[in-house]
Amino acid sequence: MKGRRVGLTFSLLTVAATTVYAQALDLSAYRMVDLTHALNAKTLYWPTSPTTFKLDSLSYGQTPGGWFYSSFAFSAPEHGGTHLDAPIHFGEGHLTVDRVPLDRLIAPAVVIDITAKVRTDTDYRLTRDDVLAFERANGRIAAGTIVLLRTGWSTRWPDKKSYLGDDTPNDASKLHFPSFGVEAARLLIQERRAAAIGVDVASIDYGPSQDFMVHRIAAAADVPGIENLTNLNLLPATGAVIFALPMKIEGGSGGPVRVVALVPRR
Ligand SMILES: [Zn+2]
Repeated sequence: MKGRRVGLTFSLLTVAATTVYAQALDLSAYRMVDLTHALNAKTLYWPTSPTTFKLDSLSYGQTPGGWFYSSFAFSAPEHGGTHLDAPIHFGEGHLTVDRVPLDRLIAPAVVIDITAKVRTDTDYRLTRDDVLAFERANGRIAAGTIVLLRTGWSTRWPDKKSYLGDDTPNDASKLHFPSFGVEAARLLIQERRAAAIGVDVASIDYGPSQDFMVHRIAAAADVPGIENLTNLNLLPATGAVIFALPMKIEGGSGGPVRVVALVPRR
């Protein structure tokens, strides 16, 4: 009886070990790309934001004990720099940032490139036809994909006037930059069931937007948005896996996020 029980335990352990090895991720098969702007005194916030990123030194230097020690305190609004919009940002009763499911934040990505279109129209909005053209070239966007929109705007960061289109203090009524269009957002979110949408400009709605319809469509479907991304030029149209893990602010409407892509080395 005792012997049989030991044997059973051993075979369960063998099965568990085999399963672990079969699922191990071979990271040498990927390059890692950082899609995040560093937070500093130049980090851009919405023009109406009352405060920006602040870093105060609490300690910096040699201690009486003879070793070095440094420590800082930071403060920042949730929405600025590379950050996540939780669904509650534009949807009462929808998910707060701490409750966004991990499978919306770690997922395969596609990158739709509109850099050619925005050259002649800084207020360009991704259209439904653009998405369908992307799918004809790259295959249908699968449910659970993080859809990233590349405008090329990150090269303007952190110059407020060229990045946001206007640098009038405390005024968000004259902004100009491209982003998602409403019908493209409906297609990606409601029909394709994207896990999340992200962009290398300050908002998932384009600069002149006054009704923030893309934010509202995403929030209603509990789809988070990722804003102020960079380095999207280093990603393939398909094949990357995105990790976009925001600070876990309980009850928060969003927060700073470190976004990293794993790109297969081919
Ligand atoms: Zn935001």
